[in-house]
Amino acid sequence: MKQYTYIMVKPDGVEAGLVREIAKRIKDAGLEIVQFDVQKLTGEVLDEHYAHVKDRDFYPEMKAFMLSNFVVPMIVYGENAVAKMRELMGPTNSNEAAPGTIRGDYGDKEVINKNVIHGADSPENAIIEIERFFKIKLEQPK
Ligand code: GDP
Repeated sequence: MKQYTYIMVKPDGVEAGLVREIAKRIKDAGLEIVQFDVQKLTGEVLDEHYAHVKDRDFYPEMKAFMLSNFVVPMIVYGENAVAKMRELMGPTNSNEAAPGTIRGDYGDKEVINKNVIHGADSPENAIIEIERFFKIKLEQPK
């Protein structure tokens, strides 16, 4: 089933010059970047996006990090795009991410929130996140 997902290269990925390498990995996985942007986020949009971790003790540090520089949001499309991107990214904690995954290769092994990239965790959340960051209302293909 072809679907859309929402991807965002975080400030550490942008600063390390990884946008091109990440775009290549996405293309090599048979997925298509249908739109991308460069944005400086606001605290408001971050609080909404990370509502599920907003009360955790690491959130203030993570919020400061996410606001520290530009991010590159992307809309990615293709077969099983949500799961395929989560596979390409590796798990949240870069320490646990295998070599060959984006987080395994480039994530900070000490600071968990500096894990280079965000990817939506479900097709439904992908649509919500695409609207949040691109102001576009998409529907997943039926
Ligand atoms: P994701 O879907 O893999 O991004 O993971 P979550 O939705 O669970 O967490 C959102 C983000 O919060 C992660 O990508 C990390 O940047 C950050 N994060 C999650 N857990 C921790 C933690 O224990 N410590 C720190 N410092 N950051 C964390």
